Amino acid sequence: MVSARRKLYKLVYGTRYDKVPWGQRVYVRPGERQIREAQWRLRIARTPVISLDEYRERVPLGEIEEYLSCMLCGESRQQKLFEPTGGKGWRYHVVRCPSCGFLYRNPNVRPERLGDLYANSYSKFLTGDYAENRQRRYRLVMKSFGPVFEEGRGRRLLDFGCGAGLFLELAQERGFDASGVDLSPDSVEQANARLQALPVPEGGTRARAHFGAPADIPEIAAGGFDVITLWSVLAHLPRPLDDFTGFRELLAPGGVLMILTVNARSLLLKAYGSKWSGFTKNHLMFYSSQTLPTLLRKTGFKGVAFAPHYGDTVEAGTTRLAPELRRRLEANVRRSDGGNMMRALAFADEEAIARWRDHLKIHRL
Ligand SMILES: [Zn+2]
Repeated sequence: MVSARRKLYKLVYGTRYDKVPWGQRVYVRPGERQIREAQWRLRIARTPVISLDEYRERVPLGEIEEYLSCMLCGESRQQKLFEPTGGKGWRYHVVRCPSCGFLYRNPNVRPERLGDLYANSYSKFLTGDYAENRQRRYRLVMKSFGPVFEEGRGRRLLDFGCGAGLFLELAQERGFDASGVDLSPDSVEQANARLQALPVPEGGTRARAHFGAPADIPEIAAGGFDVITLWSVLAHLPRPLDDFTGFRELLAPGGVLMILTVNARSLLLKAYGSKWSGFTKNHLMFYSSQTLPTLLRKTGFKGVAFAPHYGDTVEAGTTRLAPELRRRLEANVRRSDGGNMMRALAFADEEAIARWRDHLKIHRL
């Protein structure tokens, strides 16, 4: 099957796109976006909608897991779509909510057993090229939201899931009074060691990381944040409604919440299905610009802006794509809302919308 498909592509496209990196190819080959979109619609139409009881009979429950209904709309029926697998034998099922289109892992991980997923520390990823690429990504995402992240002085920022402090470092550089929280004690220790070694800008405050949930740390629980950031955290949250209700309460009037996560409308997901790079071992839920607004509306946010994601090398200007292909990639990302990552800025209230509406296209919720 795979080799037949490869032969077909060879016939249609020749060798013209062989040098285009794998993650960009589906965006630049003429006609491929339309084909993938049509395949996706067909897949949705053909996949049976079954009750949760039927689903329980078909898909076994792991020791740390629980069956879920759709967290966003309450729908209990399921469309069984994907079965990602990976190294060391992990495997899970991803379903689509037939009512609102939300994609989520089902069975999901019980919140009290989340720690089991993170038994191996992330710390090996936090230095060298990885750190530099991450920080480049943070800068590019901030840039896509115009002036919102340019000037931090006089503004409080909370980085939720701050890891080893790579973003806190940038926030401190820009003058934010920045705090982070994380559930990994090792990461928090690393973050504070990193931050201690950095110069604090004139008139600025030293960023600091805390171990635990916001509610457990008095100075975080007191709220009053102008900015909250979720860098590749959203897909890991097993109870997003509770968390977002909490974030809304932590924001000051005029506050914003920034989200970067894998995009459930990615053209790469439509092309590669269970092998999609967004289906990583620890991801639990997969959002898009169609489903995120529901989460935000239900938790009290008043507006949202999206910035299409073209990929780090394209945005940084380091891609080797020819200009014509680059333009095609950008057009296809915009047309299908199909970048591999989704970035969004949520606005707490009318004051926040009024503050940034001249710079961003804000959809009211
Ligand atoms: Zn739903």
